Amino acid sequence: MTKRQIRKLKKISLLIIILIIIVAILFFLIKLLLPKNNSLNDYSEEALNVIEKEDLDKISKYDYSKTLEVILENNLYNANYLEDYINITYVNQEDFPEKVNKYLEKGYQSNEINNIFKLSLKNQEKLENLTKQKDFSKYLEFANFDINNLERYEKYQKENADKSLDKIVTYVNLNLDKEFYTDTERIENPDEITTLINKYHYVDKDFVPKDLVTLFDSKNGAKMVRVAAEAYQKFIEGAKKDGITLESTTAYRSYSFQNTLYTNYVAEDGQKKADTYSARPGTSEHQLGLAVDLNDPNVSGARLDDKDFKWVKENSYKYGFILRYLEEFVPITGYMEEPWHIRYLGVELATKVYNSGLTYDEYYDLYIKEY
Ligand SMILES: [Zn+2]
Repeated sequence: MTKRQIRKLKKISLLIIILIIIVAILFFLIKLLLPKNNSLNDYSEEALNVIEKEDLDKISKYDYSKTLEVILENNLYNANYLEDYINITYVNQEDFPEKVNKYLEKGYQSNEINNIFKLSLKNQEKLENLTKQKDFSKYLEFANFDINNLERYEKYQKENADKSLDKIVTYVNLNLDKEFYTDTERIENPDEITTLINKYHYVDKDFVPKDLVTLFDSKNGAKMVRVAAEAYQKFIEGAKKDGITLESTTAYRSYSFQNTLYTNYVAEDGQKKADTYSARPGTSEHQLGLAVDLNDPNVSGARLDDKDFKWVKENSYKYGFILRYLEEFVPITGYMEEPWHIRYLGVELATKVYNSGLTYDEYYDLYIKEY
């Protein structure tokens, strides 16, 4: 290459570089001067029709938001909340736009509102009747979280720092942060097999289960609800096959009978002690017609021996029963161990409860009660 050729090549290169720079500058200038690729194009006409020109300009500065669109479409736009609308994730839920405004008016931030829409519908309903709640995001992972109990969780957690958060939630839901028999609740459908009855849930004085039948082995007319009585027979027969002899003592007890029992125990031992082994009238599983007390006629001085208890503990669920009152359950049930007391739940549910290792109270709160 001659010197001349080199010089020419250099000139051309320089020219190309200058050209590229000019084009780039022009490109940026045009981009800067022209209005931004407008997010307004993404909104429905219906939405855009309801707002003023100046609001349109504001909106165009943000990316498209489905929440904002439905707010506009429902004519619920409040210019003060524009940024919140943009940050609230749209949820396909009835009354979503109305609810968004309600929560904003209560003073919730957009991130808090996103959390509210992660709550169950039941909790959302409860929340509407409450003033602005504290941050509850750490409870969102618990299906049995109850927004009404938020303050009680916090308080109970402070008092029980050793307990995990899931236990805190369940225990407070079960009212264990309160003394037994405080704030008791009437059971609405006591004929349901899944009914939870305990020191916080009672049935009416006159509640008598439907379809009570006498147990096949009863000498004193002990009765249970038919499905439970049938399962009980299979249970006794199954035990027999394994060399375990069991029989029923009492099963269904009326309110007045329980009342007599309890009153006598209180007279004998005082209320505090009586409460550890006898249910107050209206709160006994026996009134549901789903519980039966067992006895081994070959054992004297106790209802069952260790061999019986072991069998009952390991096999009840196969016949649809659970042991409701075990040693490790005392802090939750408030009753001393009752190896002889079994409760009917049906095979499927009894198996689940057995496998969970939980009290029925906890199981019910976690998996049956709707939150
Ligand atoms: Zn019992």
